[in-house]
Amino acid sequence: MAKNLLLKLDGVCAGYGDIEVLHEVSLEVAEGEIVALLGANAAGKTTALRVISGLIPVWRGEIYFEERPISRVPPDERVELGIVQVPEGRRLFPFMTVRENLLLGAYNRRARRSVKANLKRVLELFPVLAEREHQLAGSLSGGEQQMCAIGRALMASPRILLLDEPSLGLAPLVVRQIYGVLPAVRAGGVTAVIVEQNVKEVLGLADRAYVLENGRVVLSGPSGQLREDERLKRAYLGI
Ligand code: ATP
Repeated sequence: MAKNLLLKLDGVCAGYGDIEVLHEVSLEVAEGEIVALLGANAAGKTTALRVISGLIPVWRGEIYFEERPISRVPPDERVELGIVQVPEGRRLFPFMTVRENLLLGAYNRRARRSVKANLKRVLELFPVLAEREHQLAGSLSGGEQQMCAIGRALMASPRILLLDEPSLGLAPLVVRQIYGVLPAVRAGGVTAVIVEQNVKEVLGLADRAYVLENGRVVLSGPSGQLREDERLKRAYLGI
């Protein structure tokens, strides 16, 4: 990998209760990359994001952020390092305005210094949020809510953005709009890991992808290569 390694999972095992869901997952994300995590329902994609952001503990193996082991670093400190998750289902506060929701993303120490610049940037990236800045978040369409959730994460000055199924429940045109913003986000220096079931769409955007099956990485490579992979085509692309 030519660029600087930003995130690395080395043989990570994790789960819930006494059920192991991730089995020795290893993956790498270089600075400036967009990496997709693919897989069927219950493959462990969301669990992988949770373990990266620290919402659930690592059982075995290690996570490195810029070569520093972070498995024991609590989630709020991981946000300070720049690891920011956009949760599945958006989790906005419906009775607060778009602006208030966005500002909530800027609570960490690093982000507080650049609230104004970050807000300006988010409203430029998603002009519809500028139009609806003083509207209640609950009154937004699904696509606009997803934009607001991504915008809120960008308010935290992320170095790496963890996106959990940003396309869930959205029309193809809206999905393209949202994905269309990610190259600009990357150009602003933000790396991204995207969990998706919408394989075709995400492979058009991501540099590389990992495919999870029953909590194990079964396939990985550059997106172009995976698009031609017979196994992936049969399993996910319906070809
Ligand atoms: P989906 O697209 O359906 O969200 P996924 O690949 O993200 O799928 P995960 O949500 O990571 O899959 O779930 C992996 C496994 O872990 C599933 O068997 C699921 O039932 C289980 N699981 C997920 N969350 C919890 C939880 N909070 N408590 C117990 N088991 C869980």
